[in-house]
Amino acid sequence: MTDFFHHLIWYHDKFLGVDWSVWKAVGWLGNTVFFTRFMVQWYATEKRRQVVIPVMFWWFSLLGSLLLLTYSIHKRDSVFICAYAVAWIPYLRNLMIHQRHENARRPCPECRLSAPASQNYCGQCGARLNPSGELEIKH
Ligand SMILES: [Zn+2]
Repeated sequence: MTDFFHHLIWYHDKFLGVDWSVWKAVGWLGNTVFFTRFMVQWYATEKRRQVVIPVMFWWFSLLGSLLLLTYSIHKRDSVFICAYAVAWIPYLRNLMIHQRHENARRPCPECRLSAPASQNYCGQCGARLNPSGELEIKH
């Protein structure tokens, strides 16, 4: 059994049987980051028990696709260059829209919970949210 795992990890005297170089590391890092986004999304969905796409999903998607694009350009592989050439655009756009949405939020004057700008009352404590976005001063 130990021999089996040793053979799996050190195949032909190479780690996982791969001819490692800086470019292979870039490609595998891209693969790992790109795959991790599914784990992050799945975890968030299981935790909330509803389909959720957390902001980390878009960060992992953006970073993973750029790493894989870099690797595919290095390999001059037209199939993978085409696959990743424009994939990063919707990921970046989703991050921009998320940031715009976050910037439009304001803190509740009572419990400090961040609430969407369109909300008139705090979802946590029910306090009226100041329409100007400034904190109300109590006397
Ligand atoms: Zn509140």
